[in-house]
Amino acid sequence: MSKILVIGSINMDLVSKVESMPQVGETVLGKGFAQIPGGKGANQAVAMSRLGADVTMIGKVGDDAFGRELKKGLENDNIDTTGIHIENGISTGIAIITVDESANNSIIVNLGANFSVTKEFIDENIEKIESADIVVLQLEIPEESVRHALEISKRLGKYTILNPAPARPLGDEIIKNVDLLVPNETELELISKMSAKDESEVKLAADSLIQKGIKEIIVTLGENGCMHLGEGFCRKYDAIKVEAVDTTAAGDSFIAGVASYIANGKAMDEAIEFATKVASVTVTREGAQSSLPHINEIEL
Ligand code: ADP
Repeated sequence: MSKILVIGSINMDLVSKVESMPQVGETVLGKGFAQIPGGKGANQAVAMSRLGADVTMIGKVGDDAFGRELKKGLENDNIDTTGIHIENGISTGIAIITVDESANNSIIVNLGANFSVTKEFIDENIEKIESADIVVLQLEIPEESVRHALEISKRLGKYTILNPAPARPLGDEIIKNVDLLVPNETELELISKMSAKDESEVKLAADSLIQKGIKEIIVTLGENGCMHLGEGFCRKYDAIKVEAVDTTAAGDSFIAGVASYIANGKAMDEAIEFATKVASVTVTREGAQSSLPHINEIEL
């Protein structure tokens, strides 16, 4: 089995339900509180490990109770955490999330230690890239660190996967080192600077990135499934119909499904069909890491 390295974010989500959002200067009583491990990097690493992959993670948490708990949680999920550093004098990445009765949310993200995942820190951990086969990145650490990690990974002959989330424009020097890009429609629009509202627009936007050096793209389309595109081909996959209760981490579990099947030497179409099943289970459950399924929960 190939080894997967995830370089990315680790957060604690602090979620409070409220009847209605507090206005400026107002105090409201919460209707329940939950502390849920998150961060796209950690979510994807956990999802892959629960699907049976051999996963190592590079990232940072702060020297506080959240940081220690998050690192321990990743270890308990069988992830190699020797590349996760506890940084002194900075807080762990925190998302403060308020959800009202109509399911509207407001979110404050403190990047904290995630922003200290610098180029130099990646260089210090280069042996983790050397011993991996597949390197997976997102955009919740500094962009120059993502660019640097992709450059090194390609130089060392690794297969690179980028989930360009949260959505933002990306430079060509990042794009050219990506083997597999997995954006949703919004992310595709921002990166390609083109509209991607229907299948023909998605195809044109994805083609423009393939011309810039990305080998393959999977565009996830929520309940409409996904499209897999590359030089001279385009294939649509339908989602599985389920009663969705919370789509948080749908994309994270989808990417984990693809990466873990590729790590097992499976072809891309099988990997996408598997990932679609994994994501369909995730959306039937609440929360981020709490919703990520184990391999024995997927009907093969
Ligand atoms: P992201 O969370 O990154 O925006 P998407 O919402 O596009 O990602 O979802 C990723 C994948 O999860 C989709 O390609 C699909 O397979 C699955 N998925 C998402 N929403 C649903 C849903 N309502 N029902 C079934 N599957 C879903």
